[in-house]
Amino acid sequence: MTPELLQAGARARERLRAPATAGSSGGRSASYGRVVEPGTVDTAHGRILYLEDITVSFDGFKALNALTLDIAAGELRCIIGPNGAGKTTMMDVITGKTRPDAGRAFFGSTVDLLRHSESEVARLGIGRKFQKPSVFEQLSVFDNLELALKTDRRVRAAVRARLSAAQAQRIDAVLERIHLEAQADRLAGLLSHGQKQWLEIGMLLVQDPMLLLLDEPVAGMTDEETERTAELFVSLQGEHSLVVVEHDMSFIDALTRDDPARKVTVLHEGSVLAEGSLAQVQANDKVVEVYLGR
Ligand code: ADP
Ligand code: MG
Repeated sequence: MTPELLQAGARARERLRAPATAGSSGGRSASYGRVVEPGTVDTAHGRILYLEDITVSFDGFKALNALTLDIAAGELRCIIGPNGAGKTTMMDVITGKTRPDAGRAFFGSTVDLLRHSESEVARLGIGRKFQKPSVFEQLSVFDNLELALKTDRRVRAAVRARLSAAQAQRIDAVLERIHLEAQADRLAGLLSHGQKQWLEIGMLLVQDPMLLLLDEPVAGMTDEETERTAELFVSLQGEHSLVVVEHDMSFIDALTRDDPARKVTVLHEGSVLAEGSLAQVQANDKVVEVYLGR
């Protein structure tokens, strides 16, 4: 949760706790039982992301075809599907990079994502990791994280020449989480490919997004790095909501191992082909036919 959102949430709770004064009707808060400030992400209904009938056409070709998808607050959702299924395009729509031809996209139950620019979506609390790592190779690991913290406009206003103790602590906590404590002073360019991927995930984490979108995060990683990445993501769920797009089935297996009921969504030709536990989708004939094979 962002400091801004936390404050807005605290204000809203404060107002609800205050007893109604004589003569006040309560207005909206009386009729709905709670107050949602504009721009605040409302997950009271348990949902962090809702896509409905999203269609994206490129020269008549439908990259997304009436895609409907629902992610619960704190959920870790895996999305799989063949190349060209529309996985990356879905992330482009969520983050405001691509505008759909039709459909609706909501962050929580009140924020209409289709009305926000890419930078606004990031500020609302949606962090995205692209397929290729894009860290600043000439800077140290620590400096990359510091820069990510300062790039966050919500924080930048408060950042002077030096980091506050709280911000330095936050960076240290992220370093530990991404297994790079011992590499803090190394140049990012000297890290392994997997470590660069972790650093980039760390650069998202210092901004504390409510929802993380991760596009093929373990591509090119060693087996051990892949396993550690799965542990990292599992440890983040609850605190954050995660949507993980991946081809590597051993990674999906690692992500769902501690909770075999965790949902996996299979995209195909721009819509949901199947959804369920990994075992369920692996046993689904349509999924076997178009994607997994025998
Ligand atoms: P995935 O990530 O599942 O592999 P994508 O979302 O990248 O699939 O692509 C879905 C389909 O849309 C593909 O056929 C791709 O070629 C097409 N596509 C994606 N972006 C564009 C674009 N900017 N212009 C034209 N076609 C695109
Ligand atoms: Mg893709």
